[in-house]
Amino acid sequence: MIKLDTLSRKLILVLISTVAAFHSLAQATDADFSIHPATIVSDRFLMGKFSASKRNDFVRINKRYASRTGMYMQKLPYDAFRAMHAAAKQDGITLKILSASRSFYHQKSIWEAKWNGKRKVGGISNIKRTIKDPTKRARKILEYSSMPGSSRHHWGTDIDLNAFNNRYFSKGQGKKVYSWLVRNAPRYGFCQPYTRKDASRPNGYNEEKWHWSFKPLAASYTKQAQLRLNDNIFNGFDGSKTATRIGIINRYVLGIHANCY
Ligand SMILES: [Zn+2]
Repeated sequence: MIKLDTLSRKLILVLISTVAAFHSLAQATDADFSIHPATIVSDRFLMGKFSASKRNDFVRINKRYASRTGMYMQKLPYDAFRAMHAAAKQDGITLKILSASRSFYHQKSIWEAKWNGKRKVGGISNIKRTIKDPTKRARKILEYSSMPGSSRHHWGTDIDLNAFNNRYFSKGQGKKVYSWLVRNAPRYGFCQPYTRKDASRPNGYNEEKWHWSFKPLAASYTKQAQLRLNDNIFNGFDGSKTATRIGIINRYVLGIHANCY
């Protein structure tokens, strides 16, 4: 039998207990949800309560890919996007990022401008005056905009491309861009979460042909939002009390096309 000194014995014990701890963590993870440990994030992250510019897993998007400077996304989706951008270019398609990461605070400024009638909502110039009922007003904004804390743009995985307008994608060059994305984006990990609303996607935002999501990370974040977030945690912005009545998590966060799960 091999004789071990005290230090070696201690090291082996530490090793065994570490392996055991990892094993039980893996088992707990398997039992609760099928999420790779590398993709586990905090609730604050899911709700966009952080600054993308201060995280080293986020990068600044080069101006050549975007409509303006100063936008951020996560490194992995950015690499995937750049590969997709190059492939599209070969086929005569130019992809341009119009919006990428948005924090809770950025989303709050968009939401409140709409809520308080300072920004148009679907052609209506002041919905504060025209839609008095808070729940109805929130639902109107929710046709295209997320409540702060519930946007996929918080995650650094989602981007808006080329035009905020479904009509643009229905003819001419826009149609070519959309057809190219439908055919090729999945090969780079991107899916379209907000497809046409029908029996298979009855809830959530209206169709957005411009919004694409990096599924290898976003599917995991969606699952974590389903498991850990609930409608009572929405606060800190005007109209947040309507969240429970509307069912933000179930109808909007989870109201995405099956291709993005
Ligand atoms: Zn979007």
